[in-house]
Amino acid sequence: MEVERIDIRQELEEIRRKGLQEINNAGDLEQLNQVRVKFLGKKGKLTSILRGMGKLPVEEKPLVGRLANDIRRDLEYELFEKNTALKEKEREERLREESIDVTLPGEKILLGNCHPLTTAINEIESIFLGMGYSVVEGPEIELDYYNFEALNIPSEHPARDMQDSFYVSAEVLLRTHTSPVQIRTMEKYAPSVPVRVIAPGKVYRRDDDATHSPMFHQVEGLLVDEKVTFGDLKGTLLTFARQMFGKKKEVRFRPSYFPFTEPSAEMDISCIICEGSGCRVCSQTGWLEILGSGMVHPRVLEMAGYDPEKVCGFAFGMGVERIAMLKYGIDDLRLFFDNDLRFLSQF
Ligand SMILES: [Zn+2]
Repeated sequence: MEVERIDIRQELEEIRRKGLQEINNAGDLEQLNQVRVKFLGKKGKLTSILRGMGKLPVEEKPLVGRLANDIRRDLEYELFEKNTALKEKEREERLREESIDVTLPGEKILLGNCHPLTTAINEIESIFLGMGYSVVEGPEIELDYYNFEALNIPSEHPARDMQDSFYVSAEVLLRTHTSPVQIRTMEKYAPSVPVRVIAPGKVYRRDDDATHSPMFHQVEGLLVDEKVTFGDLKGTLLTFARQMFGKKKEVRFRPSYFPFTEPSAEMDISCIICEGSGCRVCSQTGWLEILGSGMVHPRVLEMAGYDPEKVCGFAFGMGVERIAMLKYGIDDLRLFFDNDLRFLSQF
C-alpha cells in the first residue's frame, strides 16, 4: 500500500507540473480552455485521479484529498491569471490593429464639379446680377401663345417656318426659345417699371446634327423702363461682353430682324482667338457673333400690358453652348452632352 500511496502522490505532482506548464504555454484563450478541460474537466486528469481515491487506505484519503485540492486551486489560480493576461494581450492587439496613424496622408476624396454649361450660366447670371438684374424662370412646356403669338409671331408669319418645333398638342409645345419668359415677366409686372431680368433655361428644336442639339440652353434678357435707348442696350451688352470675354474685347452691332424687336441687331465680339486679324474660328472676319438683341417691339409691349407711348425696353438672347464653346475653347457641341468625365473633369 505504501507504494501505491507514493505513486498517486507522484501522479498528482506530475499533473500539477504538466498542468502549470501547459497553462503557461497556452497561446490564446482557446488553447487555455482546452488545458482547463484536459486537467479540471469532468473527464479531466485530476478528476479521474480523485475518482480512484476509493481504493486508498482510510488514513491516506485526507492527505491525498488535500493535495488534490491544493493542485486544483493552484491550477485554477494559474488559469485565472493566464486568462486575464491573454485577454489583455488580445485587447492590446486589437487596439494596435484598429489604431489610426494620424500622420498618414488622408484618402483623396474625388470632388465633383460643375458642368461647363452650368458654369457659363452661373457666370452670365453673376455679370447681370452685378448690373441690377434679377434671375427669373419660365416653363419649358409652353403655350403657343407665349412662344409665338405674344412675341409678334402670328400663325401665318414666316418666322414660324424657321422654327421646327416639338408640339405636344395644337396649342402646347416645348419652348423653342427663352423669349416667352419676357412676356410672362411683363404680364406679371405691367404697368410698373423698371423691369430688369435675365431668364436662363433649356429650349428645344428639331435640329439634331453635329452643330445642333435638339435641346440647348439660352439666356434671355429684358429691360423695360421709361426713356430706354439703343445706347443703353449697347452699353449693357458691351459691359457684359468685356466681363465675360476680356476687357479689351470690341463689339459691333449688325442690323438684323426679329419679329419681337424693332430695331433688331446681332452683336459680334472681336475674335477671341486672333483678336481681330482673322482666323479659322472667325472665318477670317475677325468677328464672332454671340447674341441677338433689339428694342422691344411696341406691339409686344402692348400685348403684355404696357403702354408703348410711356415705356420702352430692350431685349437680348444668347446661346449658352456658343458662349461656353468660345469662352472655354471647346470645338464640338456634342461634348456637352456626351457626359464623358475625361472632358467634364477639365472644368
Ligand atoms: Zn479669329
